[in-house]
Amino acid sequence: MLRVLLLLPITSYRNQDFLDAAHKLGVEVVSAADHCHQLAPQRGLSPILSLHFDQPEAAATQLLTSLGRRVDAVLAVDDAGVELAAVLREKLGLPGNAPEAVRPTRDKLAFRKLLQHNGLNCPAFHHLASAAEARALAAQLHYPVVVKARRLSASRGVIRADDAGDLLQQVRRVSRIQSGADRDAGALGLIVESFIPGSEHALEGLLENGQLRVLALFDKPDPLDGPYFEESIYVTPSRLSSELQTAIADSVQRVCAAAGLSHGAIHAEMRVNDAGVWLLEIAARSIGGLCGRMLRWRLGMTLEELILCHALGLPIAQPEHGDASGVMMIPVPARGIYQNVSGLETAREVLHIEDIRITAVPGQRIAPAPEGASYLGFIFSRAATPAAAEAALRNAHAALVFDIRPDVVLTQSTAR
Ligand code: ADP
Repeated sequence: MLRVLLLLPITSYRNQDFLDAAHKLGVEVVSAADHCHQLAPQRGLSPILSLHFDQPEAAATQLLTSLGRRVDAVLAVDDAGVELAAVLREKLGLPGNAPEAVRPTRDKLAFRKLLQHNGLNCPAFHHLASAAEARALAAQLHYPVVVKARRLSASRGVIRADDAGDLLQQVRRVSRIQSGADRDAGALGLIVESFIPGSEHALEGLLENGQLRVLALFDKPDPLDGPYFEESIYVTPSRLSSELQTAIADSVQRVCAAAGLSHGAIHAEMRVNDAGVWLLEIAARSIGGLCGRMLRWRLGMTLEELILCHALGLPIAQPEHGDASGVMMIPVPARGIYQNVSGLETAREVLHIEDIRITAVPGQRIAPAPEGASYLGFIFSRAATPAAAEAALRNAHAALVFDIRPDVVLTQSTAR
């Protein structure tokens, strides 16, 4: 029986989808979790160890001593574990991306340097080692710019700034967000880069011997002009011209080659304008959240099954042609405590809606981007055309009413 080591983050939308895929393929799973024993057991599975995924060398040494029988593949379910997975594969002699190839995809500053070094489209960028440097930088910039935390995801800690005064304010705010979410925040500093206008897209791909196979190209039909950049709708196939679709795939292929990424799933985000394709990021993993579920009928198997098959050298289903599909990551409209949702039945009845998953749980504290990094849930659609798939998402969303109560922050005097 084939055996896979899965690196499970504490909170991932996707743990269960990977475990289900392994179960369906008859693959034995051994798992390690991200430094918390509280991970809910899934299918009776308890992680063999809890580790600090953000300290890959130490975590790999610890894990290898407890692994027992050989594993045939190591996979990270989410961003947090991709570097550790690469270190482990190298030590175990398993195929996969080298740790040096994965590292720049985990750090927005390193990724910008990679683009620049290889002569690829790259916005002007500056590393702000400390917030104190912002005042001097503010006078030199052409606005608008985007202020970013270095290693966060889901648009957390990403804010547009329109002038020098705004920049100082947003640097303070992004610094606060990064400090609360990344224990290396003090050493990392922030990035400030030119705002790239244009339409935004995402590419889901699979690398085999360095060759990119495009699994899906998504349009993001809502304008993402800021000041905050919360993700919402993805629709595939893309409505871009075939020339632009080819240009996007070529750019992604070039950046993967430049980084040394050659194996397994990748997820890339990009903007497109008259000056060409501008890569925002490439991650050495598949699409996050539950979004991958929209690809099931296009791939002929679930995305997680496909990734596991690829990692284990098992046959992959031939892509099934067909319908357009869409997903909406249901945005958090306001900071507060989520209570419940109404209108679900009506929303599920909307033409072309396949499924709606509300992932927020009653009592959960929620916040929109740039502070928050989660969604209220996911709406999935499937239709003959991308336009119909997109319209279905908007109609279903319009039928949902979320009850979110204000999050009362207790001051010292009220707390007593
Ligand atoms: P994350 O990994 O948190 O998603 P990204 O760097 O991809 O961070 O940025 C999140 C979003 O912010 C992008 O999807 C895009 O909409 C917007 N964004 C980031 N950088 C820029 C930029 N230089 N110009 C315009 N928009 C940007």
